[in-house]
Amino acid sequence: MADISECNIKVICRVRPLNESEERAGSKFVLKFPTDESVNVGNKTFVYDKVLKPNVTQEHVYNVTAKPIVADVLSGYNGTIFAYGQTSSGKTHTMEGVLDRENLKGIIPRIVQDIFNYIYGMDENLEFHIKVSYFEIYMDKIRDLLDVTKTNLSVHEDKNRVPYVKGCTERFVSSPEEVMEVIDEGKSNRHVAVTNMNEHSSRSHSVFLIHVKQENVESEKKLHGKLYLVDLAGSEKVSKTGAEGAVLDEAKNINKSLSALGNVIAALAEGNKSHVPYRDSKLTRILQESLGGNARTTMVICCSPASYNEGETKSTLMFGQRAKTIKNVVSVNEELTAEEWKRRYEREKEKNNKMKLIILKLEAELQSWRNGKTVPVEEQVDVKTAAMESDPSASPDQAVKDQATMQSSFIGLVSGGVSAIPEAEKAQMEEEKMKLYQQLDDKDDEINNQGQLIEKLREQMLEQEELIASARRDYEASQAEMARIQADNESAKEEVKEVLQALEELAMNYDQKCSEVDNKNRDIEALNEEINQKATKTNTLQAELDALRETTSHQKKRVVEMMTSLLKDLGDIGAVIGGNAAENKPNSGASEKLEEEFTVARLYISKMKSEVKTLATRASNLDAAQADNQKKLEDTNTELSECQLKIQQYEAKMATLSETIKDVEHKRRQLEENVDSLSEEVARYKANETMHATVSQKAQETSDKLQSEIEMKQALEKQMQSHRDQHQKQLSSLREEISDKQTLIDELKDTNQKLTLALDKMQKDYESLRAEEAEKTSKLSELTLQMDRREQAKEDLKGLEETVAKELQTLHNLRKLFVQDLQNRVKKAANKKEEEEDEEAGGNVAQKQKISFLENNLEQLTKVHKQLVRDNADLRCELPKLEKRLRATMDRVKSLETALKEAKEGAMRDRKRYQMEVDRIKEAVRQRNLARRGHAPQIAKPIRPGQHPGGQPTQSVGIRGGGGPANGPAAVKDFA
Ligand code: ADP
Ligand code: MG
Repeated sequence: MADISECNIKVICRVRPLNESEERAGSKFVLKFPTDESVNVGNKTFVYDKVLKPNVTQEHVYNVTAKPIVADVLSGYNGTIFAYGQTSSGKTHTMEGVLDRENLKGIIPRIVQDIFNYIYGMDENLEFHIKVSYFEIYMDKIRDLLDVTKTNLSVHEDKNRVPYVKGCTERFVSSPEEVMEVIDEGKSNRHVAVTNMNEHSSRSHSVFLIHVKQENVESEKKLHGKLYLVDLAGSEKVSKTGAEGAVLDEAKNINKSLSALGNVIAALAEGNKSHVPYRDSKLTRILQESLGGNARTTMVICCSPASYNEGETKSTLMFGQRAKTIKNVVSVNEELTAEEWKRRYEREKEKNNKMKLIILKLEAELQSWRNGKTVPVEEQVDVKTAAMESDPSASPDQAVKDQATMQSSFIGLVSGGVSAIPEAEKAQMEEEKMKLYQQLDDKDDEINNQGQLIEKLREQMLEQEELIASARRDYEASQAEMARIQADNESAKEEVKEVLQALEELAMNYDQKCSEVDNKNRDIEALNEEINQKATKTNTLQAELDALRETTSHQKKRVVEMMTSLLKDLGDIGAVIGGNAAENKPNSGASEKLEEEFTVARLYISKMKSEVKTLATRASNLDAAQADNQKKLEDTNTELSECQLKIQQYEAKMATLSETIKDVEHKRRQLEENVDSLSEEVARYKANETMHATVSQKAQETSDKLQSEIEMKQALEKQMQSHRDQHQKQLSSLREEISDKQTLIDELKDTNQKLTLALDKMQKDYESLRAEEAEKTSKLSELTLQMDRREQAKEDLKGLEETVAKELQTLHNLRKLFVQDLQNRVKKAANKKEEEEDEEAGGNVAQKQKISFLENNLEQLTKVHKQLVRDNADLRCELPKLEKRLRATMDRVKSLETALKEAKEGAMRDRKRYQMEVDRIKEAVRQRNLARRGHAPQIAKPIRPGQHPGGQPTQSVGIRGGGGPANGPAAVKDFA
């Protein structure tokens, strides 16, 4: 092959600006840029093909990193652009950017546009077919972003040993817009499939593949180039596991592909090309060509400048450094025509012959060396020049390659002796190799299938588990339901027990009530008797009343009689008086007489009337008077009692008065004694006076004096007398006063006594009345209570009677049935017997015995029947209770059954709904897939330079007449 060249992976370092949160956190910008190709962190400097500072534009980034690749890809080379770096270091910003903002667009939209622009400007004899694929690798599984059903695609190798993703959706595109649509679709699918897009994108690699195929319609020269645009997962995952080799299993599981990438790059950087672990992950397998293979590869390592990320940045820079050393060997992917092949074959053959000649020369030289001869320098074969001579068209690179191959073949010759490997063996080996590769692919396929199967089985298992869980839940629910039912059953049993107890209690109560009722009846009877007594009493009273009425009527009659007699008498009197008048006036006219008599009679009658009236009034007056008298009598009675009281009082007063009289008498006696003593003194004075008179009669003067003294004495006596009188008077007045007071006191005492007596009486009356009232109220309450009890008892009795009647009725029916049944049986037996009799009319002893035996049987049967009847009676008693219990349990069971049924129905409904939901989802997914596959069969839309679909041909290099098929109907082409 021509155009084989070695080139290093191009590594470009892009540093993003500090972001807002880093600035807010006070992170420092720790990177320095000593030159345009180097970056310094800490005290270490890393050199790359280019270092892009934070302030560079997206366009500049594109121009530096991707633009050169466009031409390569359209010349039949493979190309790859990676973005590597920790999460949020700007990988996606670099690869995609903001798709709909002109100045923020990333590499992918720009490169797509550029590819088409480039095509539009190429030779018009070229026909292009461009198809794109979009997939992501997550947890070492390839998921097609253009068909969500393809979740685990496998990697195969084509006939040229170039790996590719088998079964991946490929969309033919004919304009940048279509490519952008495909990208949009893939991105939206990716968003739909995952919940947390940030986390997902930091753990997955997204790969956008542009496959460009061109054909020169004139020379039929075919070229094709693949361009991989890869946005890798966040490198922080690998920095911890390390390309250095320290592999943490956990981290490896998180992102196996990225660590595999690190390992591959490490192996390639060490120059150990004999074993590069491409097969460790799908990512490395897909990118096998890009890493040390046939591809122009550019790696953009994205860095955060923040001090916070310094560690990650350093490891990213190291990674880039390592990758920089990797050499790729690139060649044009060309599909040769038969002629070209022939030509090449001839060329190679020629070359081979020349080589053989050289070999011969060399062998000769070697032989002479071995033989101990020395070959002069000018005679020594110069391989380089010989080769140059043999193929002057070859480039120096080619020469190097050829030399290498020559050397290797030389070594082969040496090791295998002079004899070369025979062609047949070679072919066989080649075949074997191919077979082995085929097997490898098959194994891969199988592994993939198995993986998918495992996935499916896992899903099924999950479903099954869910089912089991639901079944378990159902089972638990039913268990709980069972337990509940059992508990209910228990409770029902207890209820029945309680009911039975309650029945027993009711029976007891019933007995009690019966006895109470009896008591009440007895009471009622007693009361009735009392009432009767009262009635008889009232009757007697009525009779008395009647008698009294009779007597009064009798008296009235008598009064009437008396009146009539009186009237008669009056009439007589009138007659007598009238008779005189008649006698006086018989002479006048007869008519006049009559009139007169009439008037007289009238007068009499009126007189009599008035008299009768007066008599009646008098009678009524008398009645009133009688009543008055009665009253008066009562009054007098009361007065009498009062008087008696007064008398008693007076007696008491008299006693006191007599005492006072005695006192007064006593005083008077004393006074009289005083008077006596005073009169004695007077007598003594008189005697003295006489003595004086006798003794001294001489002195007349003295006698005068005596005279005056006597006079004085008389005056004194008078005075004394008046004093005494006064005293007497005073005394009497005092006595009177005393007696007055006494009387007053007595009166007051009387009234007091009266009042107290009246009070006592009233008190007594009041108490008696109260007692009466209390009695009556108690009686009333008793009676009401009795009434209530009776009502209750009556109701209870009624209920019981009803139930008992019902039960009796059912029992009766049962008995009837039983009796009927028995009768039927007996009848049957009798019939049988008769038949037997009929049959054996011959009548021998055996038959008779049989008959007697049957009779016995019948007797026994009747006995049994009786027993059964008795049992039946017993059972009858049991039956209602049992029936009730049975009914209750039946109800309970029914309700439980309905509950169970409802629960089951609910479960069924849930299951149905679930099934429907599942079907619906499946249907929706199928529809969507169908809609997607609506694009199939893939229609290749060949693109011809100079036929810009937008009608703006760029740099048209001659226009083919008649136009290309781009405007015509799309041609279906098999791209593979
Ligand atoms: P990654 O894909 O590596 O996880 P992103 O590309 O999503 O990181 O970038 C993270 C954020 O930083 C985004 O909001 C992006 O717009 C911003 N960003 C990244 N690089 C730059 C840059 N060079 N200039 C401006 N903003 C950037
Ligand atoms: Mg990203």
